[in-house]
Amino acid sequence: MSFDFDLFVIGGGSGGVRAARVAAMDDGTKVGLAEESRYGGTCVIRGCVPKKLMVFASTYSPAMDQAMAYGWDIKAGEFDWLAFRSKLEKELDRLEGVYRNLLKKSGVKTFDFRATVSGPNTVRLADGREFTAKTILLATGGWPSVPNIPGAEYAITSNEIFHLDALPERILIVGGGYIACEFAGILNGLGVDAHLWYRGKQVLRGFDAEACDVVAQGMQERGVKILTEINLERIEKISDGFQVTDTQGRQESFDLVMCATGRTPNSGGLGLEDLGINIDGLGAVEVDDYSQTALPSIYAIGDVTNRVNLTPVAIREGMAFVETVFKGNPTPVDHSLIPSAVFTQPEYGTIGLSEEDARDQEPIEVYATTFRPMNTSFIGDPQIVLMKLLVSQATRRVLGCHIIADGAGEMIQMAGIAVKMGATKEDFDRVCAVHPTMSEELVTMKSPVRKA
Ligand code: NDP
Repeated sequence: MSFDFDLFVIGGGSGGVRAARVAAMDDGTKVGLAEESRYGGTCVIRGCVPKKLMVFASTYSPAMDQAMAYGWDIKAGEFDWLAFRSKLEKELDRLEGVYRNLLKKSGVKTFDFRATVSGPNTVRLADGREFTAKTILLATGGWPSVPNIPGAEYAITSNEIFHLDALPERILIVGGGYIACEFAGILNGLGVDAHLWYRGKQVLRGFDAEACDVVAQGMQERGVKILTEINLERIEKISDGFQVTDTQGRQESFDLVMCATGRTPNSGGLGLEDLGINIDGLGAVEVDDYSQTALPSIYAIGDVTNRVNLTPVAIREGMAFVETVFKGNPTPVDHSLIPSAVFTQPEYGTIGLSEEDARDQEPIEVYATTFRPMNTSFIGDPQIVLMKLLVSQATRRVLGCHIIADGAGEMIQMAGIAVKMGATKEDFDRVCAVHPTMSEELVTMKSPVRKA
């Protein structure tokens, strides 16, 4: 049977674009891709990229205070949000153009429409056109979810935060995950009175508990107001903002409320259930190790599968899919030991297990040190750095590495190579320190602080 396309990708985010491009590089492979919104997806348009630029913008304010403390004669002015926003929009337009160009150059035929799956080998575009494809790849990503409470429609999400006409004076951020903690720090740095309400005991649940404490402490020292064990009951519109009420009856008003309460896979309305594709209780498309769904002609990668929801992982899943389906080289996706960074202020880089998970797995030694780094202790800043290694007592392998410091994201990328290679504590120790740096502590921790 002949098909219109060898591969049709639904979704033009990081994972979908990479898979489409790489598949199309093989001469003769016909690839189509449909995207209903902007090319680049969450990461480029409404996630990692604009977020990181906002992180950069927000760190100039403390940097100016630090410069003054070092002796610079400068005066910090106001942050011009609209000037920043217009630069940001131009940059995102540029990046979207880059993505479109990459697809064009690789010979992928793009369709700027929503697409649904109308059969095991058929996709239908919103304009009514239908195409056949030997393989269909779902790369539709995820979408912010908001709590089911009265007035939730008044809250913005991370989708809208980049497009505000003005920064609020006082914001409530609901949630305690990556997005909530990152934006609390960003907005605080930009001069907004930032409040974070989280329903659990400590933010960043699931990460190393000691590290979470250090992050939360650092956020608060910088000015973020964190309240834990607090649940929102409703949001009401008032004349000059929004009034929120928690389940204990406490009321407060804010200029803006942002919900950063998780993301839901974009699997709805694609016609998948009718085809016998399994969708789990959270909306994730179920796939095997090769990203194949229960229907052999349909694969899924990235956040729509809710495995590890990070851009570089979606890209790897896309590459593994192409190896498997188009290169005759079945390649499962390796989801182990993925380094990542939370761009909180202070920044947190991590790979491997938390102390809690490591000690549940096997007997461990904990090497950890907290200290005030040279550059900020010089000016009396209370900022604390954490370097922490979790080491298997049996194999001496480093099972987890946690860094909280300026540049922790950059550091964990490097430390991650060693951890992924299976380095032992003694391998770390054999490396000569780079002095004076913060990360030298990773190779100079002599004795465990505890065994567990
Ligand atoms: P997370 O799953 O990280 O956090 C969601 C937060 O919202 C949790 O604190 C959760 O609480 C809370 N929550 C969930 N439902 C409710 C509710 N109904 N009422 C009140 N609170 C609620 O999601 P994010 O939206 O922060 O991020 C989504 C994903 O995006 C992340 O998992 C990550 O993979 C990715 N991401 C990665 C980044 C990075 O690599 N730097 C940056 C941003 C996002 P509880 O803990 O109790 O469940």
